[in-house]
Amino acid sequence: MSNGIHHVTAIAGPARRNLEFYTRVLGQRLVKKTVNFDDPGTYHFYFGDEAGSPGTILTFFPWANVAPGRLGIGETQETVYRVPESAIGFWTHRFIAEGVAHDAPVKRFGQTTLAFRDPDGMRLALVGLPGIETEAAWASDQIPTEHALRGFHSVSLLLGDIGGTEAILTDVFGFERVGREGETTRLAKPGVDVGGIVDLRAAGGFLPARPGAGSVHHIAFRAADDAEQAAMARKLAERHGLRTTEQKDRDYFRSVYFREPGGVLFEIATDIPGFAVDEPADQLGLSLKLPKGLEQHRAEIEAVLPKLETAG
Ligand code: ZN
Repeated sequence: MSNGIHHVTAIAGPARRNLEFYTRVLGQRLVKKTVNFDDPGTYHFYFGDEAGSPGTILTFFPWANVAPGRLGIGETQETVYRVPESAIGFWTHRFIAEGVAHDAPVKRFGQTTLAFRDPDGMRLALVGLPGIETEAAWASDQIPTEHALRGFHSVSLLLGDIGGTEAILTDVFGFERVGREGETTRLAKPGVDVGGIVDLRAAGGFLPARPGAGSVHHIAFRAADDAEQAAMARKLAERHGLRTTEQKDRDYFRSVYFREPGGVLFEIATDIPGFAVDEPADQLGLSLKLPKGLEQHRAEIEAVLPKLETAG
């Protein structure tokens, strides 16, 4: 049984600006400060709720001099967070006060939606939902609990043709088609409130995506453990002719990757072991964590990483 979105990973510009926006402006917790395991001169930031629960985690590879991406086919178009319905006014005022690029709130699938962009132009939105005020949330200095983000509502994928992608999401990840509005087909994972929706946007005629700052690199879906991940990989191979990579140990979860038929890079990530595996739960994100094989190079790595005066 799969459980919706695990995390979203995107590309950012300067590290300090990225860190400041997600922690101070959006009030997310920095739950892990590490490096890109495949490029250890670059940070890897994980932002989420207090524990970095699956379904709340947005991660970034910040590169100071990366060119802006161009949205296109085969890419995640928008990453959407849940907030209490009563918080939409607070966030609209905050975006004005902070100079955050945003649109006027609109209704999508009957829900109030406030679209905005991060400093790299990444497309984000808040959806106001009734009755979630009482859900636990990470309260930061500037964002009181009543207005805080409550994990992912959804992601939307921009596709030339949605058929192949829908087949994977329904057959392998257990999503169901629940609605359609204009060119958007909504899939939902029954019983999953956080990270349980994927919107497929048919956009034939768009150019292919060009990755860069503000682009989503991949979307990860949850598997409870290695056995469930292996079962999903088997299903992908046997029923859809898709091979995943070998399993990679990301320290906080274990992952396999594959490109789905619509061109978007998908990952299947285990819920275990989580972010408290290498530092206490009340100190997540406070110090730079390195995977075992890189610990011996800590001094050199720290010397090339950008300084983060506003870290915390
Ligand atoms: Zn990932």
